[in-house]
Amino acid sequence: MSLSPEQSENLLLWLDQQGVNPVCQSCGNNNWRGGELLLLPIMFGQPNTPPTAVPIGSEAYIAYVTVVCNHCGFVKFYSARNAGLI
Ligand SMILES: [Zn+2]
Repeated sequence: MSLSPEQSENLLLWLDQQGVNPVCQSCGNNNWRGGELLLLPIMFGQPNTPPTAVPIGSEAYIAYVTVVCNHCGFVKFYSARNAGLI
């Protein structure tokens, strides 16, 4: 799901309030946009064994939000929960 322009602006403001370095580590510019909300499944299992099926439920997923450099396209991920988006 794409962020609305207001959500994108609020996300960038939140990152600034957290003291996140605004310089893109890929190209050195400072021109970002909030991108997409992602819901990714958490794999279950023991180390060095194939993962088991992902159980259905809210604890089986983690929500991220992307922040994209408008100059080079570098993508950063942040917790959507921490950012107040969910
Ligand atoms: Zn960049």
